[in-house]
This record gives sequence, structure tokens and C-alpha cells, in this order.
Amino acid sequence: MKKILLFTFICVLFISCQDDSENINPISQHNNLEKVIGKVTSPTGITIPSTYVYYDDNGTVYNTLTNQLGEFEISVPTGQGVLTIQTGNGRLFRSTKNITVTQGQTLDLRNENFVLNSNSSLAFVAGTYDEIQTIITNLGYQTIELSLDDITNNNLDNINALFLNCSNDSAPITADSFYDNLNDFVINGNSLYTSDWGLKYLVGDSGYAQDCTTERVGGFIADELVCGIRSGAMETLTNNTILNNDLSSFTGTNTIDLEYDLPDWMQLNYIDANYWDVLVEDADSNPLMIKTNTVSTTNDDSIWYSDNGNKVTICHIPPGNPENSHSITISVNALDAHLAHGDTIGDCNGSSGNVYYTTFHNHVGETTNPIIEKIMEYVILNL
Ligand SMILES: [Zn+2]
Repeated sequence: MKKILLFTFICVLFISCQDDSENINPISQHNNLEKVIGKVTSPTGITIPSTYVYYDDNGTVYNTLTNQLGEFEISVPTGQGVLTIQTGNGRLFRSTKNITVTQGQTLDLRNENFVLNSNSSLAFVAGTYDEIQTIITNLGYQTIELSLDDITNNNLDNINALFLNCSNDSAPITADSFYDNLNDFVINGNSLYTSDWGLKYLVGDSGYAQDCTTERVGGFIADELVCGIRSGAMETLTNNTILNNDLSSFTGTNTIDLEYDLPDWMQLNYIDANYWDVLVEDADSNPLMIKTNTVSTTNDDSIWYSDNGNKVTICHIPPGNPENSHSITISVNALDAHLAHGDTIGDCNGSSGNVYYTTFHNHVGETTNPIIEKIMEYVILNL
């Protein structure tokens, strides 16, 4: 007991004596931890920063994040176990590797890239300027092309994420079922991304009103929550700030210059700050990239099971360290151990999916800013 107290005391003295403080478990059977080092890439070998790497020892989670080069170093108990990598909540992108860790030896996995696999169906609707499908394909993930009619007709079975590229078609979408189906899609835990004029897919529009008092026709997000006006000038905005910590870790920067290479881009006139998180803002604090994860909360736990019921997404709440909560997707065999220390089934952020919106385009090619591509990789991997 004295030893445990001393250990605790030393930890209090050196607050960062271990990065992942939830790992401190003086009564664990596994006093022997050894290092595992490795590198996470997409199927095409693109390194992936900020990937959550963890080892679940029957409810005790050892975890770290990959650095800018996609590399990680983690200390885990010796013996046989499973190392998992994931982005987002792990439902869409996750891989596991069986490892055997020997006492006194570092396990070096760097010569065999740890590839982050997609466990999901990604779909896109083609646009006029945007080509997020190119970025998805470059990463090495499959994507299915859908039409806007597929959304109206609810051909969204088994689709987990939807990318609606910006289109120069300013005609309003009048079918109620289009918006109803998108609403159901997100409420049921699936996510979508759109950009620029694609705001109409979220809030509807009757031919792009140039003020925020005209009621938008259609939409599944209320007019009161966001309004955009096509008032942007063709320009490069400099000194924009990446406010979201995860996104700045992923891109490796806090500031970004953004080239708006077409006039009439959709400027956000207002957003409801309770509903949206601002990920990027301009030098005058106008939002340029927003995300919501509070479209709705339902309590349909069944949607969190995947892989034929073998996996479940939970909110892992480290005992004594709740501010380090993290959504992870685990084997159902480990579920009881996690529920026993207070975890909950479902994503920590609620059970609906995420909606991401950028005022800027995502096309690569002519755009010379590699950070935009990084931002898009982040969106794809964290939906
Ligand atoms: Zn847990």
C-alpha cells in the first residue's frame, strides 16, 4: 500500500509522468509495459496524423495519437493483445493488428505500415468545381457515385457518409423527400459534407436569396441556424485561423490562406453558435468552415453495432479522468468491462452523424494549397 501511495505521490509531483494518465493503474497485473512503435498510412501510403492508437486491456485503455509523420509510440502490457487504430469514432475507419509484446524488447512495426482501413460505404454526388472523390480515391478508399435523385428516392441504404460537391446549378430542390431523407440519414448516425453553394442542400433555398430575411424553401436544417449569401469576391483570404485543435493537429498549422477562385462564393452571414462549431474563421472572425454534431440525438443503440454485431461504438470514460473521454469501436466481448467503469454505448457526442460545411472548394488540381487537401482528408477520416 505504501508503494501505491508513493507512486501516486510521485505522479502528483510530476503531473505528466505519463501522457495517458488513465493508464496509471497501480493494481494492474501488468506491471510490465513495453514500447510499440509504428506508422499509420492510408491504403495508398499517405501518412495519417492524429490517428487514435489504442490497446484495450480488458477495459483499461492505453492510447496515443500519431504525429505529423503518422508515427506513434505507445507502451502496452507484455504478452498477446490487439492494437487498434481509428479516426473519428472508429465506425468508418478502423484497423486492428494482433501483436505479441516481449518483455525487454521494443516492438518495431515501422517496416510494415499499419494501414487504416475503411469499414464503410462512402458516396459522392458530382459537382461542378469540387472533386472530393479525387481526394478519397487518392487516399485509397472506394467511393460510390450517386445522383441527387438517389437522395430524393432514398437510395441511401448502407451508405455511411455522403459528399455533396458544390454545383453551379442554382435551381432550388423542391422535393420534400430530398430533405427528409437527408435528415433521416444524419439522425441515423451517418454524416455528410458539402461546400459553398451546396449550403442549399442543408437549408434549402428558393434561387439563392441575397438576404437573410427571405425564408429558405426546403432544407433539413432550420433557417435560424445558418444563413449564407452569395456575396464573396474572387480573392485570397489570408491569415484565417484554424480554431479546432484536432484539425490544427492534423494539418500541422493554426493559420491558413484560402484562395477563393470564383466570385459569388457563399459567405456565412450568421450561424447559431450553439448548433455549429467553427473550425476555421477569417481574420474578421467570420466562419469559413463549420461542423455540427448535434443535429439530433436519438437513443437507438442498435445503430452503433457493426460488423454483424461483433463491434460496438462506445464512449470510453477513463476512470478518474473523464475529460479524456473518447469514442471507440470495440469488440462486444470487451463491452461489459467498459460498461462496468461507467462507459456508455454510442458516440460521446451523441448518436446523430456530423454535418461539415466549407465555404471554400475542395478541388485539388489547380489549387496550390496543400493544406486544403489536408483539411479534406481530415473531414473524410473524421466524419
Ligand atoms: Zn472504457
